[in-house]
Amino acid sequence: MCPFAPRFASRMANVNPSVIREILKVVSQPDITSFAGGMPAQDLFPADELAAAAQAAFRTPEITLKALQYGPSEGYPPLRAAIAAQLAAEGIDLTGNQILLTTGSQQGIFMLAQAFINPGDEIVVGSPTFLGALQAFQGFEAHFVTVPLDAGGMKMDALARVLEHRQPKFIYTIPNFQNPTGLMLTEERKAEMYALASRHGVPIVEDDPYGDLYFGPQRPSAIKALDHEGGVVLLRTFSKVLAPGLRVAYAVVPDAIVEKLIPLKQCNDLHTAALTQVMIAEYLATGGLEAHLARLRTEYRKRRDLMLAAMDAHLPEWCSWTRPEGGLFIWVTLPSGLLAAPLLEECITKEKVAFIPGDAFFAHGGGENTLRLNFSNASEAAIEDGIRRLGRVMKAARPQLARS
Ligand code: PMP
Repeated sequence: MCPFAPRFASRMANVNPSVIREILKVVSQPDITSFAGGMPAQDLFPADELAAAAQAAFRTPEITLKALQYGPSEGYPPLRAAIAAQLAAEGIDLTGNQILLTTGSQQGIFMLAQAFINPGDEIVVGSPTFLGALQAFQGFEAHFVTVPLDAGGMKMDALARVLEHRQPKFIYTIPNFQNPTGLMLTEERKAEMYALASRHGVPIVEDDPYGDLYFGPQRPSAIKALDHEGGVVLLRTFSKVLAPGLRVAYAVVPDAIVEKLIPLKQCNDLHTAALTQVMIAEYLATGGLEAHLARLRTEYRKRRDLMLAAMDAHLPEWCSWTRPEGGLFIWVTLPSGLLAAPLLEECITKEKVAFIPGDAFFAHGGGENTLRLNFSNASEAAIEDGIRRLGRVMKAARPQLARS
């Protein structure tokens, strides 16, 4: 026996590799057409503009110091001010110190888990929902209370029933172009969710990485805009609108919570990287973001249209899928009994095309007959050709893969 055999904390039994990250390792070879990752388009990164912003971060000794020295835990003040202006334009009321920069929204999720979850505490999540959130909550030994989704997002009658009988610590929701389904929580349901949360005193964690990537006429509204009682934590990120490698996101946090989250942030990493915060503030000051977002929306809409058209043409009529109005994902449902995991194996080995089996997104199992396709990070040719190959495997697979 090794004398240094690790004696982990018992909660580490709940910390396991992400299925998605394992799949991404396999499918990242260049000969595979991957619709698996939740990645923004690499051909659309504003690389020249960000390079200019990096230059700008060193243009005077004063700003260089801000970019390189330790900074405030809340975040770089000019970036917080730019974010506050954007939020005010959306009708989100802010007082005092409510914007907290985080190292990706994943850190915001993790810190909320650290701050709120005792072993056995209940958390309401959609079924399905974002795997990274499930993992973070699981790491603190949360118990999940799941609420199903339909075409209008999380079902409010089911949520109402849950809140009648239970006292969850919070409701975790991705209202806009949800990961993994691409679905929207309707405007009526946003209001209903807020009213239910307020009536029962259960805060909402509103995770909104995709709201800026809308294909309709305007940005969907934030639940946070309804909140004048300190009941909603809003998480947003620059990962999908600029670049995930920057690792800059922010949480909009009610006063009563932010007092604890700032020292918690200090325990985690003191503050989010100053250089990338300064770069983003410099980039925003050029006024270039709106044009970049407009380009992303146009391009992503084009890719979504292409993928849906290819699916209409090549996928068998016995499967169905969402037609998202924004974001990065389409969600496919196969006939029950037809399993996505072995289908993925067939797809990789026979046709070199990949997706994410949907069961990973369900807190309590299920969804084995579902899968997630990403449309943002593939070329037009790859979308058409990859979906044709996926259709070929599906059509051939149905009899063999169906459970007996
Ligand atoms: N929330 C959701 C719903 C996501 O899909 C993602 C990334 N895929 C994140 C949070 C984390 O994003 P990041 O840490 O890059 O800001």
